[in-house]
Amino acid sequence: MNSLYKKKINEIFHEIVEFEVPLSKLSQWKVGGRADVIIRPRNKNELIKVRQWLYLNGINPLIIGNTTNLLFSDDDIHVVIVQIGTSFSKVAVNGLEIVAEPGIWVPSLARLAMQTSLSGIEHICGIPGTLGGLVVMNGGSQRKGIGSVVAYVETIDNQGNIKRYTNPQCKFSYRQSIFQNGDEIVVEVGLKLSNKRDKGDIRREMLEILRSRRNKFPRKQPNCGSVFVSNPDMYEDYGPPGKIIEALGFKGLSQGNAQISEQHANFIINKGSAKSKDILYLINIVKETVYNRTGYNMVVEAKLVTSNGEIISI
Ligand SMILES: Cc1cc2nc3c(=O)[nH]c(=O)nc-3n(C[C@H](O)[C@H](O)[C@H](O)COP(=O)(O)OP(=O)(O)OC[C@H]3O[C@@H](n4cnc5c(N)ncnc54)[C@H](O)[C@@H]3O)c2cc1C
Repeated sequence: MNSLYKKKINEIFHEIVEFEVPLSKLSQWKVGGRADVIIRPRNKNELIKVRQWLYLNGINPLIIGNTTNLLFSDDDIHVVIVQIGTSFSKVAVNGLEIVAEPGIWVPSLARLAMQTSLSGIEHICGIPGTLGGLVVMNGGSQRKGIGSVVAYVETIDNQGNIKRYTNPQCKFSYRQSIFQNGDEIVVEVGLKLSNKRDKGDIRREMLEILRSRRNKFPRKQPNCGSVFVSNPDMYEDYGPPGKIIEALGFKGLSQGNAQISEQHANFIINKGSAKSKDILYLINIVKETVYNRTGYNMVVEAKLVTSNGEIISI
């Protein structure tokens, strides 16, 4: 990005901007080149100001949350990144509805629901992302997605206009939503939960989910959660992705400092200084072999962020 723009951005947004950020430090997988500029709006009004300024200057930003579903390219990223983080995370409970800003940490949201005896999002209690990212990805666990309890989603488009989507308009399907295809930023989410469960039962279920995740998933080395999405047809024929990858003998396979986890074969961990290209190598070798052996084309859950700031499927 040219230095004139950087100077202007620094003048206008100096409190919420950072330059030359190493993505290998910031990202969850601990890979990636440098980001020229990251702006972190703290509320809706600040975000509207940022969007309008970028639009007037012809700049199309890359939107990120906590980066738990993103694989950054090893090359530097020269576009403006707008990060929606925990400073953008007000939340209110009104009866059965929770209204939350997008930066709220997903486990905190699940805990709040439990504390207020609201049921329906127990399954998200161990997902380490932001609510915005979770809604965009229709994330969840135990074959559930957050979309099933979303009442509405409010977004800000590239010119700073606020839009509101009802649940059907969000077009939620397994790990998919309409927001993956556009450039709108989720700024508010309304959730409709149920009060038909005892708080103690909700708590016990969440503790059990967390215990099971701790036992099954690698926790110490950086990773991006499950690499491949579970496909129902393939599940019926061969089981979940981790089982197939393990059966093919890939558990523990390394490329550079990236490794198919010894603990769970559907995770790729960074053992230290892995590169994005090492992770992509492992993903591709698994994909290709699974396709040749089973005829199924496995879909990768994480998205690749290219050096020109595009988010693409792997
Ligand atoms: C250890 C680990 C375990 C995981 N377990 C699970 C799991 O059980 N289930 C599951 O579904 N996922 C899981 N994930 C993946 C990930 O946590 C979820 O997809 C998550 O909710 C993404 O949130 P994020 O804030 O990290 O989004 P990011 O990874 O930063 O972004 C994901 C996508 O959302 C977009 N985005 C983010 N915020 C906004 C916003 N406010 N407005 C518009 N677009 C936005 C980005 O542009 C990007 O396309 C796991 C990841 C890790 C590292």
